Amino acid sequence: MDIQLNRYKILIVGGDAREIILATRLVAVGASVKVVGLPIKNEKIELYEEIIEGLRGVDIVILPVPGINDRGEVHMPYSERKYKLSKDVFCNLPAGTPIIVGVARQALRNMVKECGLKLIEVMNLDEVAILNSIPSAEGAIQIAMEKSLITIHGSRSLVLGFGRTGMTLARMLHVLSSKVTVVARDAAQRARAVEMGLEAVDISILQKKIVEVDFIFNTIPAMIIDKVVLKKIKHSALIIDLASSPGGTDFKIAEERGIKAILAPGLPGKVAPKTAGNILADIIPKIIVDELSSRVI
Ligand code: NAP
Repeated sequence: MDIQLNRYKILIVGGDAREIILATRLVAVGASVKVVGLPIKNEKIELYEEIIEGLRGVDIVILPVPGINDRGEVHMPYSERKYKLSKDVFCNLPAGTPIIVGVARQALRNMVKECGLKLIEVMNLDEVAILNSIPSAEGAIQIAMEKSLITIHGSRSLVLGFGRTGMTLARMLHVLSSKVTVVARDAAQRARAVEMGLEAVDISILQKKIVEVDFIFNTIPAMIIDKVVLKKIKHSALIIDLASSPGGTDFKIAEERGIKAILAPGLPGKVAPKTAGNILADIIPKIIVDELSSRVI
């Protein structure tokens, strides 16, 4: 049976097609939902022009998956107007109010802390990140197909990092008959890659392994494909960097060397917004109940 949210008032600030699905599913289970900066046509959802007005009386605030950038601007691709979140706005919420976001950057962390709110990052939850890795991997492979002159079949791919995204991506590439090498610093992760029929090497020999590959998929959120590594890559290789902004590639040096390198953020929302929205809508009602049901009213 679906969780019922009849008691709860929720504000969704910004977002893309994923949050439209989320908002629609939240009202369907009885929540009272307000939105700012989302073009929703649903008579049960209240649209607000100003964040500060929308915040009044809400129990919980949901921000878009990428949250806000370091200038405080909310991810709002559907809105012509740029919306900023500041401490002055956020501190109007009662202390302890949960703020749900995909991934929080430092600016949001600081704001939430200073206003005494509670930050919940859903992309940190394995059950979300693993499911989300499916559209991410499909999207990365779609880019590889579109931006290269060769098939995935028979190609040589390097997957840097073997966490939730790297593992799904490596498996899909393998199924498409690419010769996949996983690069990971963790011996257990390399062992798992070998068990899956993949080659696996320690990150310390990345420079040696990168010489011959056609596709390099990075999921490591640190500067890994730097100047030294880029010197070893053949010019026809394609780098697709999935790691959170600014990625793990020195894009400036890649460009200077004539190597195609693409930073590919937010793939689930771009390639499969309905699936990605439903992943959020499956978990967020449970988080809301867990956070709010024990609250003294
Ligand atoms: P994860 O499960 O934590 O996996 C990260 C992998 O990178 C692990 O193998 C980890 O190794 C390795 N790693 C981290 N820091 C490292 C370092 N300094 N040196 C070497 N290896 C390092 O994360 P995930 O969920 O797969 O996400 C990976 C990245 O992709 C994140 O930045 C995430 O935001 C991003 N992402 C992007 C998209 C998109 O659409 N572009 C979609 C999903 C996720 P250890 O376990 O040894 O730390």
